[in-house]
Amino acid sequence: MGDFTLDLNDDQRSVRDWIHGFAADVMRPAAAEWDEREETPWPIIQEAAKIGLYSLDFYAQQFFDPTGLGIPMTMEELFWGDAGIALSIVGTGLAAVGVLANGTEEQIGTWVPQMYGDAADVKVAAFCSSEPDAGSDVGAMRTRAVYDEATGEWVLNGTKTWATNGGIANVHVVVAVVDPELGTRGHASFIVPPGTPGLSQGQKFKKHGIRASHTAEVVLEDVRVPGDCLLGGKDKLDERLARAHERAKSGGAGGSKNAAMATFEASRPAVGAMAVGTARAAYEYALEYATGREQFGRPIIDNQGVAFQLADMRTQIDAARLLVWRASWMATAGKPFTSAEGSMSKLFASETAKKVTAQAIQILGGNGYTREYPVERMHRDSAIYTIFEGTSEIQRLVIARTLSGVPIR
Ligand SMILES: Cc1cc2nc3c(=O)[nH]c(=O)nc-3n(C[C@H](O)[C@H](O)[C@H](O)COP(=O)(O)OP(=O)(O)OC[C@H]3O[C@@H](n4cnc5c(N)ncnc54)[C@H](O)[C@@H]3O)c2cc1C
Repeated sequence: MGDFTLDLNDDQRSVRDWIHGFAADVMRPAAAEWDEREETPWPIIQEAAKIGLYSLDFYAQQFFDPTGLGIPMTMEELFWGDAGIALSIVGTGLAAVGVLANGTEEQIGTWVPQMYGDAADVKVAAFCSSEPDAGSDVGAMRTRAVYDEATGEWVLNGTKTWATNGGIANVHVVVAVVDPELGTRGHASFIVPPGTPGLSQGQKFKKHGIRASHTAEVVLEDVRVPGDCLLGGKDKLDERLARAHERAKSGGAGGSKNAAMATFEASRPAVGAMAVGTARAAYEYALEYATGREQFGRPIIDNQGVAFQLADMRTQIDAARLLVWRASWMATAGKPFTSAEGSMSKLFASETAKKVTAQAIQILGGNGYTREYPVERMHRDSAIYTIFEGTSEIQRLVIARTLSGVPIR
């Protein structure tokens, strides 16, 4: 036998089972209630913090799992429990990844712990990139960060939208334009520390799904942050901007990725794993239902029309998980996504979740269409996966451009 394996090792299995226990015993029973309330489930985040499931330590451990499977395994189990509650638990991670991808060691050490707080006083964090006129088109971003030489501070102005935990976060990570001439190469990420004047929550959105997760606008009016809140530091930024100007003068493109893109690339397989979790939850529910529900004097699973749907659902879920694991393993092994494998995993898993949860409703018939049964919620929740962190169309654009080298529009 060679070294290749798709088996989780003993440590991973025990962590997975531990997360599964929390998802089954704490998240599942609370899912319908928090979906109806459309509020951040603080008591459940606190429960997670008490057992160490909501902590920097835990996510760092999973992030540095040498096989790359720590994060996808965690996401799949949590989102199997409930997508809305799970996003409230892991939303902080997107902001943390923003700091890990672009920050110095000192910035990581200072700010990431404040994003989580502790079990006695849990906190959340927000990553704010999207704007009303800059969703898929990140280059249309308008939020400006201007350096004030006199005070050594950065001054931020603009409106962010769709921010998970926006306005209720202890720490906000804000992507802003520092050099408008350079398009996305002229963006940088900033920490907005707790209680900074000028940052306020705008509209809180009433959503179709993942309703236990808070999504809101974040308004920045003359928000002043100290110079060391620029992620990566000013020297590095100045060097990067100078290089970008050189390239622009010589008519060249490429070079280092912009700040928001670096965050998204790292997190795409993780979003794929979330989708796998929701899809698996709906499939398992539908399988059990189809075995128990009788029509025409026999369980409905006796019909090929139902059983084949379940066969397709499970096949697609397993295929999605394999794409997610491949991308996560590649990222951890330092292998570049030469065929946009991160985007492939997110595209396939998110589309699978939408399809599988719709099939689950069909298998449950009228019951599937009601809020008495969880597949209705899972279907609403699954619609987010093809939208956030780059829509399915944008993933296809990234994949097609990467494969062809052609600037397909
Ligand atoms: C619940 C929720 C949570 C979110 N959390 C965050 C967060 O924490 N932080 C954050 O910064 N953002 C967040 N987002 C924002 C999310 O990433 C954006 O909604 C997403 O990038 C799409 O942008 P948009 O909504 O402006 O859609 P648009 O960009 O306006 O797209 C509309 C449609 O046009 C299509 N389209 C656009 N351009 C092209 C093209 N070139 N080719 C083909 N089709 C195209 C899109 O695929 C889509 O179908 C969140 C969004 C939601 C709904």
